[in-house]
Amino acid sequence: MAKLVTDVVCPFCGTLCDDLEVSVTDDGKKILDVYNACAIGAEKFLHSQASDRITRPRMQDEDGNWKDVSYDEAVEYTAKILADAKKPLMYGWSSTNCESQAVGTQIGEVTGAIMDNTATVCHGTTLIAVQDVGIPSCTLGEVVNRADRIVFWGCNPAHAHPRHMSRYSIYPRGFFTGKGQKSRKLVVIDPRCTDTSKLADYHLQIEQGRDYELFDAFRVAFKGEKLPDTVAGIPKKTIYEVAETMKSGRFGIIFFGMGVTQSLSKNHNIDAAISVTRDLNDYSKWSIMPMRGHYNVTGSGEVWGWLHGFPFALDLSRGFARYNPGDTTSNDLLRRDEVDAVFVLGSDPGAHFPFGSVKKIWGLPSVCIDPHITPTSAVCKLHVPVAFVGVETGGCAYRMDNVPIECRKVVEPPEGMLTDEEFLKKVLTRVKELKGA
Ligand code: SF4
Repeated sequence: MAKLVTDVVCPFCGTLCDDLEVSVTDDGKKILDVYNACAIGAEKFLHSQASDRITRPRMQDEDGNWKDVSYDEAVEYTAKILADAKKPLMYGWSSTNCESQAVGTQIGEVTGAIMDNTATVCHGTTLIAVQDVGIPSCTLGEVVNRADRIVFWGCNPAHAHPRHMSRYSIYPRGFFTGKGQKSRKLVVIDPRCTDTSKLADYHLQIEQGRDYELFDAFRVAFKGEKLPDTVAGIPKKTIYEVAETMKSGRFGIIFFGMGVTQSLSKNHNIDAAISVTRDLNDYSKWSIMPMRGHYNVTGSGEVWGWLHGFPFALDLSRGFARYNPGDTTSNDLLRRDEVDAVFVLGSDPGAHFPFGSVKKIWGLPSVCIDPHITPTSAVCKLHVPVAFVGVETGGCAYRMDNVPIECRKVVEPPEGMLTDEEFLKKVLTRVKELKGA
């Protein structure tokens, strides 16, 4: 017999689709099928059932041999390396719930850690720009119901956020967008041809790294001022035409991704993108939104924002919060040998950091909290498997538009397995004992 769990939230990407249905066995122990999710979302649920899943913590010796240890031993090792370190790095936090992020931050406060999340190699530049100039944004619900002009700049939702276009931005029929895709004009700005650009009314194949110039060119074009014959590889005629299309809508939105945040000019690109949005509000209603990747990277910025005022690169080593991207960011600290222990939860720097940083992690006391075997778990001394958030335990996560959503528990975790929050609470208790806090 099977039962159906409805209104399940997908814990994979920042779209946080909340309409999934999951068929599970009557005893609530096994997932049978996943409905409504895209291929990568469904795989997240089904992968939790893998027969070769690691279910107990394990430690690695210098020769790369692993041996199983108990959760108590894992708590002791983790608490000790954090308590003994002068400046531990506690990195990740983007694929877990806000409850765990809050407990982890308490550990960071007691141990004087650097707390950093995946924004450091992703949308950190967006966060810097937002602090500089603010952001006129909206919810994805407003996009469904109102947006008739959609711009995807430096992102490819067809692959990275596969249901974004069908749930929110292109296909759905909303209150004021009753003809679905026919109600909308789609502009894609990307140096590459992608599956998203194939759907576009206008695909501007910009020269790589020239985003800042094209943003500025649009600001000139909105006012009807003169442009050179081409800007960033785009003919001026096309720029004027797209500028008029943008101005003529009733409600527009610019979605942007790492093609803008991590190309030349970085946070200055986002300053310019926000200025374009502000200019467009002279003619119509426009908003802008980052395409956040991990399902709760937005939540980690929110939690640290409430607790310490900064969304990433949080330095608690002096007993109060400091924030100085470029100085207190993970890769800069690793490169300068400034951290003496590494703790990773809810991300995979082994796959995403430069090789030089990964080598530094290998040489330090280190722990990786992750349900999967990953490149990070392979270089850390201790690997602690935990329950999948959003599959085997619930909790709060923030969608890319800053809307908090309560994730559901769908099945039981393997017997005896701890959740992120349970493991972190045990580490916090032990760290307090060791520090006499
Ligand atoms: S678009 Fe993202 S949140 Fe939605 S089902 Fe796919 S992976 Fe999950």
